[in-house]
Amino acid sequence: VILQSDFDSRESAISHISHMAKQLHQSLKDHYSVTEHMLMITCSCGIAIYPDDGESAEQLIKHADTALYKAKANGRDNYQFFSREMNVAAVERMEMESDIYRAIENNEFEVVYQPKVSISGNRIVGAEALLRWHHPQQGDISPERFIPVADETGQILQLGDFVLQQACALTSELWCSNENCDETDSLSVNVSPRQFQQDDFVEKIQRILAQEKTRACCIELEVTENILIEDASKVGEKLRVLKELGLTISIDDFGTGYASLRYLQQLPIDMIKIDRSFISHITDKASDFAIVKTIMSMAKNLDIKVIAEGVETDEQLALLQLLDCPYYQGYYFSKPVSREVFIGMIRQQRAASA
Ligand code: C2E
Ligand code: CA
Ligand code: CA
Repeated sequence: VILQSDFDSRESAISHISHMAKQLHQSLKDHYSVTEHMLMITCSCGIAIYPDDGESAEQLIKHADTALYKAKANGRDNYQFFSREMNVAAVERMEMESDIYRAIENNEFEVVYQPKVSISGNRIVGAEALLRWHHPQQGDISPERFIPVADETGQILQLGDFVLQQACALTSELWCSNENCDETDSLSVNVSPRQFQQDDFVEKIQRILAQEKTRACCIELEVTENILIEDASKVGEKLRVLKELGLTISIDDFGTGYASLRYLQQLPIDMIKIDRSFISHITDKASDFAIVKTIMSMAKNLDIKVIAEGVETDEQLALLQLLDCPYYQGYYFSKPVSREVFIGMIRQQRAASA
Protein backbone atom coordinates (compact mmCIF):
# COMPACT_ATOMS: atom_id res chain seq x y z
CA VAL A 1 0.00 0.00 0.00
CA ILE A 2 1.33 3.43 -0.91
CA LEU A 3 -0.15 6.44 0.83
CA GLN A 4 0.23 9.93 -0.66
CA SER A 5 -1.05 13.09 0.93
CA ASP A 6 -1.14 16.89 0.73
CA PHE A 7 -2.74 17.53 -2.64
CA ASP A 8 -4.56 20.78 -3.41
CA SER A 9 -7.21 19.16 -5.56
CA ARG A 10 -8.41 15.87 -6.93
CA GLU A 11 -6.97 16.86 -10.31
CA SER A 12 -3.48 17.40 -8.96
CA ALA A 13 -3.73 14.12 -7.04
CA ILE A 14 -4.71 12.29 -10.24
CA SER A 15 -1.88 13.77 -12.22
CA HIS A 16 0.72 13.09 -9.52
CA ILE A 17 -0.44 9.54 -8.87
CA SER A 18 -0.62 8.69 -12.59
CA HIS A 19 2.97 9.83 -12.90
CA MET A 20 3.96 7.73 -9.89
CA ALA A 21 2.17 4.65 -11.17
CA LYS A 22 4.02 4.98 -14.47
CA GLN A 23 7.35 5.34 -12.69
CA LEU A 24 6.63 2.35 -10.51
CA HIS A 25 5.76 0.36 -13.57
CA GLN A 26 8.90 1.50 -15.34
CA SER A 27 11.20 0.62 -12.49
CA LEU A 28 9.73 -2.87 -12.11
CA LYS A 29 9.97 -3.48 -15.84
CA ASP A 30 13.64 -4.48 -15.70
CA HIS A 31 14.45 -8.14 -15.86
CA TYR A 32 15.99 -9.43 -12.70
CA SER A 33 18.56 -12.10 -12.78
CA VAL A 34 18.21 -14.47 -9.82
CA THR A 35 20.69 -17.37 -9.83
CA GLU A 36 20.43 -18.56 -13.43
CA HIS A 37 16.82 -17.39 -13.95
CA MET A 38 15.60 -14.19 -15.57
CA LEU A 39 12.58 -12.96 -13.63
CA MET A 40 10.01 -10.45 -14.80
CA ILE A 41 7.59 -8.64 -12.53
CA THR A 42 4.35 -7.15 -13.76
CA CYS A 43 2.61 -4.56 -11.65
CA SER A 44 -1.10 -3.77 -11.36
CA CYS A 45 -2.31 -0.80 -9.30
CA GLY A 46 -5.69 0.23 -8.01
CA ILE A 47 -6.09 3.81 -6.83
CA ALA A 48 -8.69 5.50 -4.61
CA ILE A 49 -8.65 9.16 -3.61
CA TYR A 50 -9.99 10.77 -0.42
CA PRO A 51 -12.66 12.04 0.08
CA ASP A 52 -14.63 11.27 -3.12
CA ASP A 53 -13.74 7.57 -3.20
CA GLY A 54 -14.14 7.00 0.53
CA GLU A 55 -14.01 8.87 3.81
CA SER A 56 -12.42 6.17 5.94
CA ALA A 57 -9.20 4.23 5.49
CA GLU A 58 -11.27 1.08 5.27
CA GLN A 59 -13.42 2.44 2.43
CA LEU A 60 -10.39 3.75 0.55
CA ILE A 61 -8.61 0.42 0.75
CA LYS A 62 -11.72 -1.43 -0.30
CA HIS A 63 -12.22 0.80 -3.32
CA ALA A 64 -8.54 0.73 -4.27
CA ASP A 65 -8.93 -3.04 -4.22
CA THR A 66 -11.95 -2.85 -6.52
CA ALA A 67 -9.87 -0.72 -8.92
CA LEU A 68 -7.00 -3.22 -8.63
CA TYR A 69 -9.39 -5.98 -9.59
CA LYS A 70 -10.35 -3.97 -12.67
CA ALA A 71 -6.67 -3.40 -13.56
CA LYS A 72 -6.11 -7.16 -13.41
CA ALA A 73 -9.21 -7.86 -15.45
CA ASN A 74 -7.87 -5.44 -18.08
CA GLY A 75 -4.95 -7.72 -18.68
CA ARG A 76 -2.79 -6.80 -15.67
CA ASP A 77 0.29 -4.63 -15.75
CA ASN A 78 -1.65 -1.37 -15.73
CA TYR A 79 -3.24 1.02 -13.25
CA GLN A 80 -6.86 2.05 -12.70
CA PHE A 81 -8.54 4.79 -10.72
CA PHE A 82 -11.61 3.78 -8.78
CA SER A 83 -14.95 4.87 -10.24
CA ARG A 84 -18.56 4.63 -9.05
CA GLU A 85 -19.35 2.34 -12.00
CA MET A 86 -16.72 -0.08 -10.75
CA ASN A 87 -18.44 -0.20 -7.44
CA VAL A 88 -21.77 -0.96 -9.06
CA ALA A 89 -20.10 -3.79 -11.00
CA ALA A 90 -18.46 -5.14 -7.83
CA VAL A 91 -21.75 -5.14 -5.95
CA GLU A 92 -23.48 -6.84 -8.91
CA ARG A 93 -20.80 -9.50 -8.91
CA MET A 94 -21.34 -10.20 -5.22
CA GLU A 95 -25.09 -10.38 -5.65
CA MET A 96 -24.73 -12.69 -8.58
CA GLU A 97 -22.54 -15.04 -6.57
CA SER A 98 -25.21 -15.62 -3.97
CA ASP A 99 -27.85 -15.78 -6.68
CA ILE A 100 -25.93 -18.58 -8.41
CA TYR A 101 -25.87 -20.60 -5.16
CA ARG A 102 -29.61 -20.16 -4.86
CA ALA A 103 -30.13 -21.07 -8.53
CA ILE A 104 -28.14 -24.30 -8.17
CA GLU A 105 -30.35 -25.30 -5.23
CA ASN A 106 -33.40 -24.33 -7.23
CA ASN A 107 -32.47 -26.26 -10.39
CA GLU A 108 -32.59 -23.16 -12.56
CA PHE A 109 -29.78 -24.33 -14.83
CA GLU A 110 -30.40 -26.25 -18.02
CA VAL A 111 -28.06 -27.68 -20.62
CA VAL A 112 -28.96 -26.98 -24.26
CA TYR A 113 -27.37 -28.43 -27.36
CA GLN A 114 -26.22 -26.78 -30.57
CA PRO A 115 -25.80 -29.26 -33.44
CA LYS A 116 -22.41 -29.74 -35.08
CA VAL A 117 -22.88 -30.46 -38.77
CA SER A 118 -20.75 -32.11 -41.43
CA ILE A 119 -20.66 -29.77 -44.41
CA SER A 120 -20.33 -32.35 -47.17
CA GLY A 121 -23.04 -34.66 -45.86
CA ASN A 122 -25.29 -32.04 -44.25
CA ARG A 123 -25.51 -34.45 -41.34
CA ILE A 124 -25.57 -33.79 -37.59
CA VAL A 125 -22.43 -35.32 -36.10
CA GLY A 126 -23.01 -34.22 -32.53
CA ALA A 127 -23.58 -31.07 -30.53
CA GLU A 128 -22.00 -28.59 -28.15
CA ALA A 129 -23.47 -28.56 -24.65
CA LEU A 130 -24.16 -24.99 -23.48
CA LEU A 131 -25.37 -23.85 -20.10
CA ARG A 132 -28.56 -21.79 -19.66
CA TRP A 133 -29.81 -20.02 -16.55
CA HIS A 134 -33.57 -19.52 -16.36
CA HIS A 135 -33.88 -16.89 -13.66
CA PRO A 136 -37.36 -16.70 -12.08
CA GLN A 137 -37.39 -12.86 -12.01
CA GLN A 138 -34.79 -11.76 -14.55
CA GLY A 139 -35.59 -14.28 -17.28
CA ASP A 140 -32.75 -15.99 -19.12
CA ILE A 141 -29.30 -14.78 -18.11
CA SER A 142 -26.55 -15.11 -20.69
CA PRO A 143 -23.62 -17.38 -19.89
CA GLU A 144 -21.44 -14.50 -20.96
CA ARG A 145 -22.60 -12.76 -17.77
CA PHE A 146 -22.65 -15.56 -15.24
CA ILE A 147 -19.79 -17.85 -16.38
CA PRO A 148 -17.08 -15.27 -15.59
CA VAL A 149 -18.53 -14.79 -12.09
CA ALA A 150 -18.87 -18.54 -11.53
CA ASP A 151 -15.33 -18.94 -12.77
CA GLU A 152 -14.00 -16.45 -10.32
CA THR A 153 -15.90 -17.77 -7.32
CA GLY A 154 -15.21 -21.42 -8.12
CA GLN A 155 -18.90 -22.19 -8.63
CA ILE A 156 -17.97 -23.20 -12.17
CA LEU A 157 -16.68 -26.47 -10.71
CA GLN A 158 -20.13 -27.51 -9.57
CA LEU A 159 -21.80 -26.17 -12.72
CA GLY A 160 -19.18 -27.85 -14.90
CA ASP A 161 -19.80 -31.22 -13.24
CA PHE A 162 -23.50 -30.77 -13.91
CA VAL A 163 -22.94 -30.02 -17.62
CA LEU A 164 -20.57 -32.95 -18.00
CA GLN A 165 -22.96 -35.33 -16.27
CA GLN A 166 -25.91 -34.17 -18.40
CA ALA A 167 -23.89 -34.40 -21.61
CA CYS A 168 -22.63 -37.89 -20.76
CA ALA A 169 -26.14 -39.09 -19.91
CA LEU A 170 -27.47 -37.78 -23.24
CA THR A 171 -24.53 -39.26 -25.16
CA SER A 172 -25.23 -42.66 -23.67
CA GLU A 173 -28.88 -42.43 -24.46
CA LEU A 174 -28.27 -41.39 -28.08
CA TRP A 175 -25.22 -43.33 -29.09
CA CYS A 176 -23.33 -45.44 -26.60
CA SER A 177 -26.23 -47.67 -25.62
CA ASN A 178 -27.13 -48.78 -29.13
CA GLU A 179 -25.48 -49.93 -32.32
CA ASN A 180 -26.14 -46.61 -34.01
CA CYS A 181 -22.90 -45.28 -32.62
CA ASP A 182 -20.91 -43.68 -35.38
CA GLU A 183 -17.49 -42.94 -34.01
CA THR A 184 -17.55 -39.34 -35.22
CA ASP A 185 -20.69 -38.53 -33.24
CA SER A 186 -19.88 -36.72 -30.03
CA LEU A 187 -21.06 -34.11 -27.58
CA SER A 188 -18.65 -31.32 -26.69
CA VAL A 189 -18.41 -29.75 -23.28
CA ASN A 190 -16.76 -26.42 -22.46
CA VAL A 191 -14.04 -26.65 -19.85
CA SER A 192 -12.86 -23.45 -18.21
CA PRO A 193 -9.23 -23.09 -17.11
CA ARG A 194 -10.27 -23.33 -13.49
CA GLN A 195 -11.97 -26.67 -14.07
CA PHE A 196 -9.05 -27.95 -16.04
CA GLN A 197 -6.60 -27.01 -13.29
CA GLN A 198 -8.32 -29.15 -10.65
CA ASP A 199 -5.94 -31.83 -9.43
CA ASP A 200 -8.64 -34.47 -9.73
CA PHE A 201 -10.03 -33.31 -13.09
CA VAL A 202 -9.07 -36.51 -14.91
CA GLU A 203 -10.46 -38.75 -12.16
CA LYS A 204 -13.66 -36.75 -12.10
CA ILE A 205 -14.18 -37.24 -15.83
CA GLN A 206 -13.47 -40.95 -15.52
CA ARG A 207 -15.96 -41.21 -12.68
CA ILE A 208 -18.75 -39.46 -14.61
CA LEU A 209 -18.07 -41.47 -17.78
CA ALA A 210 -18.26 -44.71 -15.79
CA GLN A 211 -21.34 -43.63 -13.88
CA GLU A 212 -23.22 -42.69 -17.07
CA LYS A 213 -21.77 -45.63 -19.07
CA THR A 214 -20.47 -43.25 -21.72
CA ARG A 215 -17.68 -44.12 -24.12
CA ALA A 216 -14.84 -41.61 -23.84
CA CYS A 217 -14.58 -41.24 -27.63
CA CYS A 218 -18.08 -39.72 -27.69
CA ILE A 219 -17.06 -36.79 -25.48
CA GLU A 220 -15.07 -33.82 -26.68
CA LEU A 221 -13.53 -31.31 -24.29
CA GLU A 222 -13.39 -27.71 -25.49
CA VAL A 223 -10.59 -25.77 -23.88
CA THR A 224 -9.36 -22.28 -24.71
CA GLU A 225 -5.82 -21.09 -25.23
CA ASN A 226 -6.05 -19.61 -21.72
CA ILE A 227 -5.42 -22.99 -20.08
CA LEU A 228 -1.88 -22.63 -21.36
CA ILE A 229 -1.20 -19.75 -19.04
CA GLU A 230 -0.29 -22.39 -16.52
CA ASP A 231 2.83 -24.50 -16.77
CA ALA A 232 2.73 -25.77 -20.36
CA SER A 233 4.35 -29.11 -19.64
CA LYS A 234 1.82 -29.85 -16.88
CA VAL A 235 -1.05 -28.91 -19.20
CA GLY A 236 0.39 -31.09 -21.95
CA GLU A 237 0.70 -34.03 -19.58
CA LYS A 238 -2.93 -33.73 -18.47
CA LEU A 239 -4.16 -33.44 -22.06
CA ARG A 240 -2.19 -36.52 -23.03
CA VAL A 241 -3.76 -38.55 -20.22
CA LEU A 242 -7.23 -37.41 -21.32
CA LYS A 243 -6.47 -38.28 -24.91
CA GLU A 244 -5.18 -41.71 -23.91
CA LEU A 245 -8.50 -42.29 -22.18
CA GLY A 246 -10.07 -41.70 -25.60
CA LEU A 247 -11.47 -38.18 -25.20
CA THR A 248 -11.24 -35.66 -28.02
CA ILE A 249 -9.56 -32.32 -27.30
CA SER A 250 -10.53 -29.18 -29.16
CA ILE A 251 -9.30 -25.60 -28.95
CA ASP A 252 -12.23 -23.21 -28.62
CA ASP A 253 -12.30 -19.62 -29.93
CA PHE A 254 -9.15 -20.34 -31.89
CA GLY A 255 -7.23 -17.25 -32.93
CA THR A 256 -8.48 -14.94 -30.17
CA GLY A 257 -6.02 -15.85 -27.37
CA TYR A 258 -2.40 -15.06 -26.77
CA ALA A 259 -0.90 -18.51 -26.93
CA SER A 260 1.89 -19.22 -29.37
CA LEU A 261 1.39 -21.48 -32.35
CA ARG A 262 3.97 -23.83 -30.95
CA TYR A 263 1.37 -25.43 -28.69
CA LEU A 264 -0.52 -26.75 -31.71
CA GLN A 265 2.53 -28.77 -32.53
CA GLN A 266 3.36 -29.87 -29.01
CA LEU A 267 -0.03 -30.59 -27.50
CA PRO A 268 -2.31 -33.48 -28.38
CA ILE A 269 -5.04 -31.42 -30.07
CA ASP A 270 -7.62 -33.08 -32.31
CA MET A 271 -9.75 -30.16 -33.39
CA ILE A 272 -9.65 -26.39 -33.82
CA LYS A 273 -12.83 -24.31 -33.52
CA ILE A 274 -12.44 -21.20 -35.67
CA ASP A 275 -13.90 -18.32 -33.70
CA ARG A 276 -17.16 -16.71 -34.78
CA SER A 277 -15.48 -13.30 -35.09
CA PHE A 278 -13.55 -14.53 -38.16
CA ILE A 279 -16.53 -16.32 -39.70
CA SER A 280 -18.97 -13.43 -39.41
CA HIS A 281 -16.96 -11.32 -41.91
CA ILE A 282 -15.59 -14.10 -44.04
CA THR A 283 -17.69 -12.97 -47.02
CA ASP A 284 -17.02 -9.23 -46.90
CA LYS A 285 -13.56 -8.85 -45.37
CA ALA A 286 -10.70 -10.20 -47.44
CA SER A 287 -8.40 -10.36 -44.41
CA ASP A 288 -10.82 -12.54 -42.43
CA PHE A 289 -11.18 -14.85 -45.41
CA ALA A 290 -7.39 -15.03 -45.62
CA ILE A 291 -7.10 -15.88 -41.92
CA VAL A 292 -9.68 -18.66 -42.15
CA LYS A 293 -7.99 -20.02 -45.25
CA THR A 294 -4.62 -19.97 -43.49
CA ILE A 295 -5.99 -21.71 -40.38
CA MET A 296 -7.51 -24.37 -42.64
CA SER A 297 -4.28 -25.15 -44.42
CA MET A 298 -2.21 -25.01 -41.26
CA ALA A 299 -4.58 -27.43 -39.53
CA LYS A 300 -4.47 -29.74 -42.51
CA ASN A 301 -0.67 -29.82 -42.44
CA LEU A 302 -0.68 -30.56 -38.71
CA ASP A 303 -3.38 -33.20 -39.14
CA ILE A 304 -5.85 -31.34 -36.91
CA LYS A 305 -9.57 -31.22 -37.73
CA VAL A 306 -11.45 -27.93 -38.05
CA ILE A 307 -14.95 -26.73 -37.23
CA ALA A 308 -16.25 -23.23 -38.02
CA GLU A 309 -18.34 -21.49 -35.35
CA GLY A 310 -21.19 -19.05 -35.77
CA VAL A 311 -22.22 -19.71 -39.37
CA GLU A 312 -25.32 -17.65 -40.05
CA THR A 313 -25.75 -17.41 -43.82
CA ASP A 314 -25.56 -19.67 -46.85
CA GLU A 315 -22.88 -17.41 -48.34
CA GLN A 316 -20.65 -18.11 -45.35
CA LEU A 317 -21.33 -21.81 -45.63
CA ALA A 318 -20.57 -21.81 -49.37
CA LEU A 319 -17.17 -20.20 -48.74
CA LEU A 320 -16.35 -22.70 -46.01
CA GLN A 321 -17.25 -25.50 -48.36
CA LEU A 322 -14.95 -23.97 -50.96
CA LEU A 323 -12.17 -24.05 -48.38
CA ASP A 324 -12.86 -27.71 -47.65
CA CYS A 325 -13.90 -27.04 -44.07
CA PRO A 326 -15.39 -30.33 -42.83
CA TYR A 327 -17.71 -29.16 -40.03
CA TYR A 328 -19.69 -26.15 -38.83
CA GLN A 329 -21.97 -24.90 -36.09
CA GLY A 330 -24.24 -21.89 -36.21
CA TYR A 331 -27.68 -20.35 -36.33
CA TYR A 332 -27.83 -21.15 -40.06
CA PHE A 333 -28.42 -24.78 -39.17
CA SER A 334 -29.82 -24.36 -35.67
CA LYS A 335 -29.63 -22.33 -32.49
CA PRO A 336 -28.89 -24.30 -29.32
CA VAL A 337 -31.98 -26.41 -28.54
CA SER A 338 -33.33 -28.28 -25.54
CA ARG A 339 -32.38 -31.88 -24.86
CA GLU A 340 -35.78 -33.10 -26.12
CA VAL A 341 -35.60 -31.15 -29.36
CA PHE A 342 -32.06 -32.38 -30.01
CA ILE A 343 -33.09 -35.99 -29.45
CA GLY A 344 -35.91 -35.37 -31.95
CA MET A 345 -33.42 -34.06 -34.52
CA ILE A 346 -31.22 -37.15 -34.19
CA ARG A 347 -34.21 -39.51 -34.43
CA GLN A 348 -35.46 -37.72 -37.52
CA GLN A 349 -32.04 -37.96 -39.14
CA ARG A 350 -31.88 -41.67 -38.36
CA ALA A 351 -35.32 -42.26 -39.79
CA ALA A 352 -34.44 -40.33 -42.95
CA SER A 353 -31.24 -42.30 -43.54
CA ALA A 354 -32.97 -45.62 -42.86
P1 C2E B 1 -18.63 -20.55 -26.88
O1 C2E B 1 -18.08 -21.79 -26.27
O2 C2E B 1 -17.82 -19.89 -27.94
O3 C2E B 1 -20.07 -20.96 -27.39
C1 C2E B 1 -20.61 -20.53 -28.59
C2 C2E B 1 -21.56 -19.39 -28.36
O4 C2E B 1 -21.94 -18.84 -29.64
C3 C2E B 1 -22.87 -19.83 -27.72
O5 C2E B 1 -23.31 -18.74 -26.93
C4 C2E B 1 -23.78 -20.02 -28.91
O6 C2E B 1 -25.14 -19.92 -28.59
C5 C2E B 1 -23.34 -18.87 -29.78
N1 C2E B 1 -23.63 -19.10 -31.20
C6 C2E B 1 -23.66 -20.28 -31.84
N2 C2E B 1 -23.95 -20.11 -33.13
C7 C2E B 1 -24.10 -18.79 -33.33
C8 C2E B 1 -24.39 -17.98 -34.49
O7 C2E B 1 -24.59 -18.46 -35.60
N3 C2E B 1 -24.46 -16.64 -34.30
C9 C2E B 1 -24.27 -16.07 -33.10
N4 C2E B 1 -24.35 -14.74 -33.02
N5 C2E B 1 -23.98 -16.80 -31.99
C10 C2E B 1 -23.89 -18.14 -32.10
P2 C2E B 1 -23.73 -18.95 -25.43
O8 C2E B 1 -24.48 -20.21 -25.28
O9 C2E B 1 -24.37 -17.66 -25.03
O10 C2E B 1 -22.37 -19.14 -24.67
C11 C2E B 1 -21.45 -18.10 -24.55
C12 C2E B 1 -20.17 -18.58 -23.92
O11 C2E B 1 -20.39 -18.97 -22.56
C13 C2E B 1 -19.61 -19.82 -24.59
O12 C2E B 1 -18.93 -19.46 -25.75
C14 C2E B 1 -18.71 -20.36 -23.50
O13 C2E B 1 -17.49 -19.67 -23.47
C15 C2E B 1 -19.49 -20.01 -22.23
N6 C2E B 1 -20.23 -21.21 -21.78
C16 C2E B 1 -21.46 -21.62 -22.11
N7 C2E B 1 -21.78 -22.78 -21.49
C17 C2E B 1 -20.69 -23.13 -20.75
C18 C2E B 1 -20.38 -24.23 -19.87
O14 C2E B 1 -21.15 -25.17 -19.68
N8 C2E B 1 -19.15 -24.21 -19.27
C19 C2E B 1 -18.23 -23.23 -19.49
N9 C2E B 1 -17.06 -23.29 -18.87
N10 C2E B 1 -18.50 -22.17 -20.31
C20 C2E B 1 -19.71 -22.13 -20.94
CA1 CA C 1 -17.35 -23.66 -26.88
CA1 CA D 1 -16.31 -20.73 -29.23
